[in-house]
This record gives sequence, C-alpha cells and structure tokens, in this order.
Amino acid sequence: MLGYDAVYFRGQDFHELLQMARQQERVILTRNTRLTAKGVEGQIVLILKDDPLLQLKELLNQGVIGLDEETPFSRCLLCNSLLGQIEREEAEGKVPDFVFYLHREFHQCPQCHQIYWPGSHQKRMEKRLKDLTRVQGVEDSGN
Ligand SMILES: [Zn+2]
Repeated sequence: MLGYDAVYFRGQDFHELLQMARQQERVILTRNTRLTAKGVEGQIVLILKDDPLLQLKELLNQGVIGLDEETPFSRCLLCNSLLGQIEREEAEGKVPDFVFYLHREFHQCPQCHQIYWPGSHQKRMEKRLKDLTRVQGVEDSGN
C-alpha cells in the first residue's frame, strides 16, 4: 500500500532467501528469530509486533523506511507491479457500475490487470498513516 517494492518469500531455503535479497538489493523483514540469530551479513530486520500498523511503526522508528520515500497506492496489492493510469472508459464494465459512476480516476496493473480506484480503504489508510506519523518516534505505552 505504501508503494514499496515488496515480495513475499514462500520458499523454505534460507540461502535462497539471502541470495535473492542480495541480488535484488532487498531488506529481509522477518518475525523468525532463528534467521536473525544466524548473524548473517546483510540486511535482516526482526519484526517484533503483531499488529501491522505497529510493525510499520517499528520500521519507521528503526529508520528502515520513511513515509516520504515512495508513492502510496502506486503498486498492485496483488502482484507488486507499478500501476498505470487508464482512461475512465477503459474501466467501464470491468468495475461495479456504482464505482464507475462515482469515480473519475482509475489505475490498472499491467501484470494482472486488476483495476484500482481511490476508495474508502485508501482514505482510511491515509488517515491511519497520518495518525502514525504524528506519533512517530514516541515509544509505545505498553498497550
Ligand atoms: Zn497486479
């Protein structure tokens, strides 16, 4: 959602993961303490929290990411590809009618052809991000 180029590693082989991260210059985010315990060189960041927003806050506080580096909602949530804007007419019949009539702007994934529009989840997410940025740097109060 934040626009970061991110992939989910589904393999089992730790060396394959490391190699992929190195080749593609990726930071490895994991909740697996065994990975960080291996003390391998390279960027492995251990995530401690369960809640996705708190996980994001962890990354912000550690300086792993910043909220101004990428354009939010610029990537496909299904396959990570960068979205392209399409003509409104192209979305007709491919999105629910009420969506088509309510919106002017549509984006489409060139890879899996999923169509996106600025919806309520985007507004909610933007608000949560704003809230998060406001409290950024403030330590958790334990809840
Ligand atoms: Zn896609």
